[in-house]
Amino acid sequence: MDSIFVTFEKALKKRFAIGAFNFYNLETLQAILEAGEITASPVICSVSESALQYMGIDATVMMFEALTEKKKYPAYLHLDHGKSFEVCKKAIDAGFDSVMIDGSALPFDENVKLTKRVVKYADKHGVFVEGEIGTLSGIEDNTIVDEKDSKYTNPQEAKKFLDLTKVNSLAVAIGTSHGAYKFSGDPKLRIDILSNIEKELGKFPIVLHGASTVDLKLIKQINARGGKIKNAKGVSVEDISEICKHHNVCKVNVDTDLRICFIASLRKNLKACPKEINPRFFFSDAKEEMKNLIITKIKLFQGKL
Ligand SMILES: [Zn+2]
Repeated sequence: MDSIFVTFEKALKKRFAIGAFNFYNLETLQAILEAGEITASPVICSVSESALQYMGIDATVMMFEALTEKKKYPAYLHLDHGKSFEVCKKAIDAGFDSVMIDGSALPFDENVKLTKRVVKYADKHGVFVEGEIGTLSGIEDNTIVDEKDSKYTNPQEAKKFLDLTKVNSLAVAIGTSHGAYKFSGDPKLRIDILSNIEKELGKFPIVLHGASTVDLKLIKQINARGGKIKNAKGVSVEDISEICKHHNVCKVNVDTDLRICFIASLRKNLKACPKEINPRFFFSDAKEEMKNLIITKIKLFQGKL
């Protein structure tokens, strides 16, 4: 089975993006892994720091290992937005395939220093490292970044960061943000900035965060059944498709869309089946719907939609 390094090389060469999906329990992990098998595709299973606290690192790794043992296609365990050397080290020691060290909120020099330290440790263990430069606005678990403070990635700075840190992939800020409320104005990504970054970096894997498209039909469904999600807005499917087909983006992260899908399913079935008290009844349906959504995402990222 291909290592994560080889899979990224293939993605870069063949111009597709690997889907990176967040999980936080058995059902969400099953949904990702089953979608990978059905589409015969590699998948990245991401765990945020708070999801790691929620599940515990030992349970996370054991669950991942148990469920991937008999898989035909590669799945990689990835730490999403590690904020410190310590948490990255913990993930590496526990057997993660890949870690993201997110020093993007730090001044450039400090981000370089922190990222270099993680790369040095990860290298010794054959673990893949994603860095980030430029801040994404929105909500990412414990971190809240004001929209006005959000910065697009500076292409020259990105090149310098890469040369100094030797990370394996780089997350950039081109106008996406985390959460369900991505744009207050025109929902347009700065694909021009992405092209400039690519000119500076050459053939190098870029990562796109905050890439949920936010299905307004599902938001409507949630709100019709007691939810209160107002003014949600995501990235357009066309932008994602263009980025995956014609750019060096090799990993696209999706979390919000999966959450929306899962909750829409739960609200629908809780309302429809008021006498049912078996949680598995609700969770298995939510998992199926999430799996179908992930299949669609994988195809979109492979340029097949
Ligand atoms: Zn992110």
